[in-house]
Amino acid sequence: MVAGTSLIDFTEATPRPRALDVRWIHGSPSAKHNTDPDIQVHAYDEHTFILRQNMAIDYEAPFLFLLFGNERAVLIDTGATASAEYFPLRRVVDEIVDGWLDQHPRERYHLLVLHTHAHGDHVAGDGQFADRPDTTLVAGDLATAWEYFGFAEDPDAVARVDLGGRVLECLATPGHHEAAVTFYDPWTGFLLTGDTVYPGRLYIQDWPTFVRTIDRLIDFSDRRPVTHVLGCHIEMTNRPGVDYPIRTTYQPDEPPLQLTTGHLREIRAALKEIGDQPARRAHPLFILWPNP
Ligand SMILES: [Zn+2]
Repeated sequence: MVAGTSLIDFTEATPRPRALDVRWIHGSPSAKHNTDPDIQVHAYDEHTFILRQNMAIDYEAPFLFLLFGNERAVLIDTGATASAEYFPLRRVVDEIVDGWLDQHPRERYHLLVLHTHAHGDHVAGDGQFADRPDTTLVAGDLATAWEYFGFAEDPDAVARVDLGGRVLECLATPGHHEAAVTFYDPWTGFLLTGDTVYPGRLYIQDWPTFVRTIDRLIDFSDRRPVTHVLGCHIEMTNRPGVDYPIRTTYQPDEPPLQLTTGHLREIRAALKEIGDQPARRAHPLFILWPNP
């Protein structure tokens, strides 16, 4: 820290749950005539940004998260599209960072890029950050990510990523993907669950591992104030248990992105009822979906 920089105190005892009643961009009947921004930016608070990729660029329309600390920001995931022309993630992130630094001047400020997991719709924009100054990008693959978080040595560890007074807690949460990571942010109370838990089709690659992950997430959440459980997609409709078919590019009837720890318990109860033989099962806001 340099003299004159104002330090933000991110260590307030309990995060206050804020409303998240955002009208997310959700595609259009004709992708060609879509007039939404390429990337929607929602400021949850002045240090916390939620981004959504336009469905007309890629039907996956993933959510991304940009969290600011005193010394660096972290971008969690880089979206579903590599091209900076079609999907200008680097430009949008740089604009948010510049705006934040205008309000909170610092001589040097770093950007860390991490991932919820290594599926293509979460890492495609990585290349846009390759030549960015003052940037560390940790690839999302198992070998690289597990080494970075220390999960290679101890998969049950809670890894800490300090952004400068804002210390994220990170858990290895495989099941959907072998290198899935869940992030807890004590400033907002967000539990960022990637594609492990979200309002959509929960594709389960490894059933027993997924069961164990849900148990761990509940156990972890019991000891932390969790305000919102936020995954990376919305695939459900507002009709309980009914999802939009895969590759849908117009979802006018989406439920909110945010879930609660109650949904973690609902998932656990469903898994318990199903037992050892993986089976598909729809609940109002998610569908357990074992991969073939
Ligand atoms: Zn995904």
